[in-house]
Amino acid sequence: MRALPPGSTIGILGGGQLGRMLASAAARLGFTCHIYSDATGPAFDVAAKTTIGEFTDLDAIRKFAGRVDVITYEFENVPLCAAAAAAEITPVRPDPKALEVAQDRLVEKRFLASLDLPVAPFAEVASLDDLTAGLQTIGTPAILKTTRLGYDGKGQVRIADAKDPAWALDAIAHAPAVLEGMIDFAYEVSVLAVRGADKQARFYDLPLNTHRDGILDTSTVPSPLPKARIAEADAIAGSIATALDYTGVLAVELFYLGDDTDTPFLVNEIAPRVHNSGHWTLDACAVCQFENHIRAVAGWPLGGTTRHSDAMMTNLIGHDVDAWADLAADDDGGPDTCLHLYGKHQARPGRKMGHITHLTDRKSS
Ligand code: AMP
Repeated sequence: MRALPPGSTIGILGGGQLGRMLASAAARLGFTCHIYSDATGPAFDVAAKTTIGEFTDLDAIRKFAGRVDVITYEFENVPLCAAAAAAEITPVRPDPKALEVAQDRLVEKRFLASLDLPVAPFAEVASLDDLTAGLQTIGTPAILKTTRLGYDGKGQVRIADAKDPAWALDAIAHAPAVLEGMIDFAYEVSVLAVRGADKQARFYDLPLNTHRDGILDTSTVPSPLPKARIAEADAIAGSIATALDYTGVLAVELFYLGDDTDTPFLVNEIAPRVHNSGHWTLDACAVCQFENHIRAVAGWPLGGTTRHSDAMMTNLIGHDVDAWADLAADDDGGPDTCLHLYGKHQARPGRKMGHITHLTDRKSS
């Protein structure tokens, strides 16, 4: 892959905050970004060129593709037909195969199982009979998730007992689903891997993630996991990236069951893009996940992934952002505070409005 020279244009499918941070990182390297999205969004404020169009308007997608030098995406629900149409004209990185896997939980689980990677017990659910049978095999508590378009805990319900489970199908509007055993994990963590044009992967430090109402709340590095376990987690992500012949940042969400178990990790899901649990890298690493993603898709050498500070990132969800003035004034000699606001005009419950990262001196290795 020939490295794109500075001055080239990077096309980004999607105009949200991830696109915004990708475009800012690209600008730092001298690239111009062109955003394609179906509505204006946070990325539009920082990109040189923007196009509003439907993702199913393949003529518009092809025209966009003809105006850029490489295309990447900032959300995993880019329709496959759009990615394929774009790829007819201009390279799309990561390869759209990653979208195909990540868009459907069942395809994803089967793909992971085919790599011999551990996942929670699961069953396909297309009917009440499937659900009843699945609950018998998997037991309760269990969690029923739509196969497609679920995020931040949406499109999923928890089932405490197997009696009369029809309500659970009603709750997900009878969408095709997957039933999963509820995992009693010790921690949730994620691997942020970046794989370059030379097919070599690098890994950021593995953050410990906490959630509030199904939405990522905090990501903290370092995590309390033993080093050997972190290496195992990295190896899991590395094998996924290799299997997908992946280029760019790949996030792999894992349940950590504890050090004294035979199977310390289960893979929950993968995100073929930069990820919220890697936002701390903006402030705690010389080269953040956004820049490394841009470097990878542009065919550049990767930058270092070493963390220079310990960090805790906290999402600002909904009206959390109303405290921006206090957050901006947080210079009382405590941890260094880095405030990031996404420029969204309206705070709504559950909406990611920004994040804040507290940095402290790096204490551990
Ligand atoms: P997901 O959309 O699959 O990432 O699920 C959102 C959140 O629900 C996860 O971050 C977990 O906190 C929780 N969750 C999802 N699946 C399971 C499971 N099988 N067992 C326990 N908790 C789960």
